[in-house]
Amino acid sequence: MSAFARGSLLGIEHLQAEEITGLLQLARRMQRGQPRPVLRGKTVGLVFYEASTRTRTSFEMAAKKLGALTLLVHASGSSIEKGESLLDTGYTLRAVGCDALVFRHPNAGAPHLIAAHLDVPIINAGDGMHEHPSQALLDAYTILQHMKDLRGKHMAIVGDIYHSRVARSNIHLLSKFGVQLTLCGPPEFVPETAATLAKGLRIARHLEEAIRGADVIMLLRVQKERLAEMQFDVGEYIARYQLTSARLRLAKPGALVMHPGPIIRGMELSSEVADAPQAVIREEVRNGVLVRMAILARALGKSK
Ligand code: ASP
Repeated sequence: MSAFARGSLLGIEHLQAEEITGLLQLARRMQRGQPRPVLRGKTVGLVFYEASTRTRTSFEMAAKKLGALTLLVHASGSSIEKGESLLDTGYTLRAVGCDALVFRHPNAGAPHLIAAHLDVPIINAGDGMHEHPSQALLDAYTILQHMKDLRGKHMAIVGDIYHSRVARSNIHLLSKFGVQLTLCGPPEFVPETAATLAKGLRIARHLEEAIRGADVIMLLRVQKERLAEMQFDVGEYIARYQLTSARLRLAKPGALVMHPGPIIRGMELSSEVADAPQAVIREEVRNGVLVRMAILARALGKSK
């Protein structure tokens, strides 16, 4: 089944490659021209049960650039705090007049539950450890601005892959387009079972091995609390996995350095790498607005 049932975008896993290409092409058209207010008269609800800077602001910017009104609901300061259920919050926003809902929730499958009950498109803005489809789309868009094709490219994804919805959505997307993926991190963060996510995934325990000759390096946030949970020493993580300028030289010259944010300088990457010309971290954020414009326009049937 397409994840675009009724315009919803719930994940990358069940999308066809053509649907992904279609969205990326639409984002490119958005980049070329002045955005037209195709969503004038529409209201997009942004419901964030978890903290967010990039995803929330860029969905809001995207909706506004297309002429829609936006309604923002945070868990704190709303009836969610009083114990209102997820579905009841969804019904309320529908009753207020939302034509589409962008949902971030700490539980995997929460947007799917809403989508099964509401008659408006639901966009998954990150559900637990499951998926973050708009992030994977903006990452693919960013890579394609620097490379003609994804097929055959070598990419290393480094860090806490086990807990990362960004990694999962990216693995689904990039493996549909023939990218050679290497996952890198200690077994606590990159269990052997990660290899079952897609065919041909490689696992590397050493950063040097993962990034040698890579075209793209995607770093993931590593939380100190998770390291503590896994009884993995922060200093050891930094010594073994931090991307430094010296290590970056092992990758292809000019290899892209990506990160979904928030970046922690001095943890998963050095400050020098974060500011290097080949780091496209802020470009990813910029492209996020275009890709989310495409997602919203498509969701509300205004993609022509
Ligand atoms: N911002 C991304 C997310 O919400 C990545 C992260 O927080 O580590 O999934």
